[in-house]
Amino acid sequence: MNHILPNNKISTLKEFALQRIGEVYDAREARNVVNELFRHYLNFSAADLVVKANDTVSESQMLLIYKAAKRIAQHEPLQYVLGSAYFFGMDLHVNSSVLIPRPETEELVRWILDEIKPNNHSVLDIGTGSGAIALALKKAQPNWNVCGVDVSKEALQVAQRNSTELQLEVAWKEVDILVGNLPEANWTCIVSNPPYITVSEGNEMRTSVVQHEPHLALFVPENDPLIFYRRILELANKCETVKQVFFEIHENYSSETLTLGASMGWKGELKNDLQGKPRMLLFTK
Ligand code: SAM
Ligand code: GLN
Repeated sequence: MNHILPNNKISTLKEFALQRIGEVYDAREARNVVNELFRHYLNFSAADLVVKANDTVSESQMLLIYKAAKRIAQHEPLQYVLGSAYFFGMDLHVNSSVLIPRPETEELVRWILDEIKPNNHSVLDIGTGSGAIALALKKAQPNWNVCGVDVSKEALQVAQRNSTELQLEVAWKEVDILVGNLPEANWTCIVSNPPYITVSEGNEMRTSVVQHEPHLALFVPENDPLIFYRRILELANKCETVKQVFFEIHENYSSETLTLGASMGWKGELKNDLQGKPRMLLFTK
């Protein structure tokens, strides 16, 4: 493609990107995103962008930023455009088959690491997506036996790629947890950030999430928002070695989830996230 912009100057490309990205971000965020794109694709620092404003770049370099800016203007999350997301000290590969790991999930990982003694644990991460939780635990506790399961083959491919690149030995298994069983092992701890958003709530969510992140990762049936928690506790009850189950939860369902666990023989402890909302729950026997 030739002459997508009037000239190949850095300043022209930067102005174009700022304008397109400014359609979906406020001015300050747009500047940060533009800086991030130039750093990622052209290895330019924010200072380079000023000092080299009148330099020119090749048509193919130009195209990289041009295309990325257009994707972002269509509400595609920056992490999908760049193909990577930061989680607990790791850069994880992500694509539209996996949820972008969230900061509150880092808080869940922190809690697990603080809470359970670094003995010989066998930890199962249910609905592992990019593998974020499983990989963070394995990285912090290399002696643990860690496995991540997901119903999505595409998600497991991303998780596998992450474990290979990070050289972390985690087992990945394809399981539909709503119908299948836990993989055979003496699991001591189960962790899950399952889907927990009802379809009607989706109407109030950001376009970037609803239009681009996998609905399989987000949504639960309107009439049964706790379906994953019930099923996971049911499976945990069948595996005698499981002593702890850590969940990320929906802030609106903390008491319902506690009650559900109690009715199934589990003692619950809620934990607030940094914003003061009950977003984590530990069940013990
Ligand atoms: N653990 C990742 C994280 O915290 O970033 C992803 C969590 S995402 C909210 C939920 C995950 O559960 C998705 O990866 C989705 O594919 C998976 N999932 C949905 N239904 C499932 C099922 N029936 N069995 C197993 N996994 C399922
Ligand atoms: N916390 C995520 C969001 O707000 C959803 C994660 C989930 O459904 N488990 O989009």
